[in-house]
Amino acid sequence: MTRKTHISIKHISKVFPDGTRALHDINLDIAEGEILVLLGPSGCGKSTLLRTIGGLEQKSGGDIYFYNKEVSQVPVEDRNVGFVFQNYALFPTMTVRENIAFGLKLRKMAKAEISRKVDSLLEMMELVEHAEKKPRQLSGGQQQRVAIARVLAIEPEVLLLDEPLTALDAKLKEYLRIELGQMLRKLGITAIYVTHDQLEAMSIADRIAVMNLGVIEQVDTPERIYSSPKTDFVADFIGRINCVKGKMVSGADGLFVDLGFIQLPAPSGTEKRAGDEVNAYLRPEDIELVGTKADNSGHIIQAIAEQCIFMGDCYHVVARAGNEEIFFEVPNGARIKIGETVQVKLNAEKLIVL
Ligand code: ATP
Repeated sequence: MTRKTHISIKHISKVFPDGTRALHDINLDIAEGEILVLLGPSGCGKSTLLRTIGGLEQKSGGDIYFYNKEVSQVPVEDRNVGFVFQNYALFPTMTVRENIAFGLKLRKMAKAEISRKVDSLLEMMELVEHAEKKPRQLSGGQQQRVAIARVLAIEPEVLLLDEPLTALDAKLKEYLRIELGQMLRKLGITAIYVTHDQLEAMSIADRIAVMNLGVIEQVDTPERIYSSPKTDFVADFIGRINCVKGKMVSGADGLFVDLGFIQLPAPSGTEKRAGDEVNAYLRPEDIELVGTKADNSGHIIQAIAEQCIFMGDCYHVVARAGNEEIFFEVPNGARIKIGETVQVKLNAEKLIVL
């Protein structure tokens, strides 16, 4: 089912007064109820884009539509947008209940209605038993849930979250990134979520927009971002990947990628042509140790083990194939000696050529 477009960003650019170009010609459609994650390295423009969508920052060019209505002239308080930042800024002297009720009191909502609403949010966020506590009596994760409940109380149409888990420790972050994704999905609210953490992005997003130097390099599902990166930046930024320089060559039965130490069939649908210089990418999980016995099936190469690092559940192996270094993982039981020649099988179907 195709969902209605909720937010449409057309040719947005942003130049700060000091001349810093933070955003260049950004185009992006976000569907109703979608969780879109803006992912990229520090300084790539994620927060600036989020803040521009929310109206906290003025754009330099382009248009932003909420349900086909251009919102540039709509002040932030009238955009019906809720913000959740890294720093929750809960009111320290108020209880959880009072923190959540704050925005509703400002809006002069009737007392009984406030109470009803806060009760239902406490329940939804599993905070009932903490309702009368002060923020300092709560864990980081609980505080974060209060911050979200406080934002949801005012019933925003859009939730904008800027690194909401960054301040938390690793364990809690892992737990909350799953919980938060489930909660946002249950609410069905349109959400834009900024992070530089790939795992967070992968587990929360319906789609990820990977940003670099003020542009969006690719917008896709987490699975496609991982398996079919469209640019060298995305291939390199997401997960671990082998990159080998290669050249497209034509063979008897089609187009091949010559990596120096082996020729692999070109990925189907590639736009590359014979003679093109390319970067060929293969994930470590697509390289498999096949032992020292001769094996003629598949695309097998010989490589010399240079490093074998114990990782607990597996070994990380770096090996030399021709003039190239490749890395892959082998299970715990497989013993590889440094300097040993090993045979590894390359899963050519997973080859990415850019
Ligand atoms: P981080 O993950 O570190 O928060 P980010 O991807 O969110 O990074 P932004 O904060 O959007 O990046 O910044 C994008 C670029 O704009 C950076 O080069 C930053 O230094 C610059 N920038 C941000 N705010 C301002 C400002 N008020 N004035 C001038 N330059 C700014």
